[in-house]
Amino acid sequence: MTSTTATELAAGGAGLSVSGLSKTYGQRGEIRALDDFSLTFPAGQCTVLLGPSGCGKTTVLRSIAGLVTPDSGRITIGDQVAFDHAAGHEEPPEERHLGMVFQSYALWPHMNVAEHIAYPLLTSGLAKTEIAQRVTAMLDWVGLGGMGNRFIHELSGGQQQRVSLGRAMVGKPRAILFDEPLSNLDARLRERMRMELLALRQQAPFTSIYVTHDQLEAMTLGDRVVVMRAGRIEQMGSPEEIYRRPRTRFTAEFVGIPNLLDGRVRDISAAETVVDTALGPLRAVGWRRDRQTGTRCTVAVRPTLLGVSRGTVGAGQTEGHVIRTAFQGSSSVVLVDVAGAQLVIETLAEERHEASTPVAVQPAQGAVFALLDD
Ligand code: ADP
Ligand code: MG
Repeated sequence: MTSTTATELAAGGAGLSVSGLSKTYGQRGEIRALDDFSLTFPAGQCTVLLGPSGCGKTTVLRSIAGLVTPDSGRITIGDQVAFDHAAGHEEPPEERHLGMVFQSYALWPHMNVAEHIAYPLLTSGLAKTEIAQRVTAMLDWVGLGGMGNRFIHELSGGQQQRVSLGRAMVGKPRAILFDEPLSNLDARLRERMRMELLALRQQAPFTSIYVTHDQLEAMTLGDRVVVMRAGRIEQMGSPEEIYRRPRTRFTAEFVGIPNLLDGRVRDISAAETVVDTALGPLRAVGWRRDRQTGTRCTVAVRPTLLGVSRGTVGAGQTEGHVIRTAFQGSSSVVLVDVAGAQLVIETLAEERHEASTPVAVQPAQGAVFALLDD
């Protein structure tokens, strides 16, 4: 018998798709958790659902898992229809063959690590030796080699989350659903687990749906990021696209862009649009193709793409006044008033800027900003 490697155990998975999912809660259905939500999840990829608390992320996951019954729509997992409202068809969770990793680890105090990981295999009909072998492979895979005999209270939070991951993956599920798995960990551990999850995925791509409100996790782990708002999709794209080209105020603010400058379209060329703003003409790129010269628009300006310096205001610079500076260690954040608009500027410079100091503000050399749809 050939031995099962952890990579064979982990890799693969099926594609999923959901269409027209709606779900309301409340006595009169006044809470709309999902609003005609449709999306496909390609096999072997990690799709991240990113959005603020209450936007419906968990409801999508639980609908796919069979733990919530949507009011309408259809869900397919691989070539199997798991839910079809119109046909009155709904598979129970155990027939969907999905793995789940939650924010709370959902582990049992009376079972050791190996027993947790073996648990989903107990009803699989596999031989004891095969189960033992898979459990060993999975322990290695999640970085818990040699810890099979430990009990849960003997593990750190990060190790407990690895047990959940091993348990979710050991049965070769068709997809793994992650619901904010790192949000209970402290900042340093969260960072480390984020990098470890990335490494696992790069070794053996598997289908996963990863729910988070943390843009850093979304950017790191997503092959594709889907920004959700009020039960609908606000924007989806590669992490790069979401980061560099937010379409709306909502997405821009959610990915950490506080500066939304009013502007007027000055010039539209094939590649980019020149917009007049309080910072002078800025080059910007957006998604809409129907803009006219002279119309109003909004440009999203990332704090790291602005510079601030003392001294006379030169060409390409605009005068402003410092409102306050916050020292952050590796950088400083300077809040500057430019013609009545408050701009957040992140700078690596050592220089401290006192309140009400006149300063020159300037966009980074060659920067191309995001032109919002709205
Ligand atoms: P997220 O995971 O993005 O925070 P959820 O999917 O958990 O969002 O919730 C979406 C909306 O549905 C929220 O307004 C939430 O309060 C509501 N909701 C979710 N589950 C229930 C429930 N069992 N009963 C009532 N309201 C619910
Ligand atoms: Mg949630």
